[in-house]
Amino acid sequence: MIRREDVELMGPAAGCPTCRKQMMKEPLAGVPRTEECRRRHERVMARDKDHRYERAFENLMHEDEETVRRKNVNRHAVEERELN
Ligand SMILES: [Zn+2]
Repeated sequence: MIRREDVELMGPAAGCPTCRKQMMKEPLAGVPRTEECRRRHERVMARDKDHRYERAFENLMHEDEETVRRKNVNRHAVEERELN
């Protein structure tokens, strides 16, 4: 599913009636995309998915660091309480 936002972002594929209709906000029913258009969108979406995955992974790593840090702080606090 290629959304209008995607088409606006990438620009319409040359000679693709669906892209043109999407840009004009016309109904798309029954209008085929050109092979070139589909491939173009697939390529961009695959790249976009990679970026999303990388970002998610980075967030996960960051979250992990943050969790570990917080746990260490908590453990520290407990140890200090036990010592006193
Ligand atoms: Zn198109």
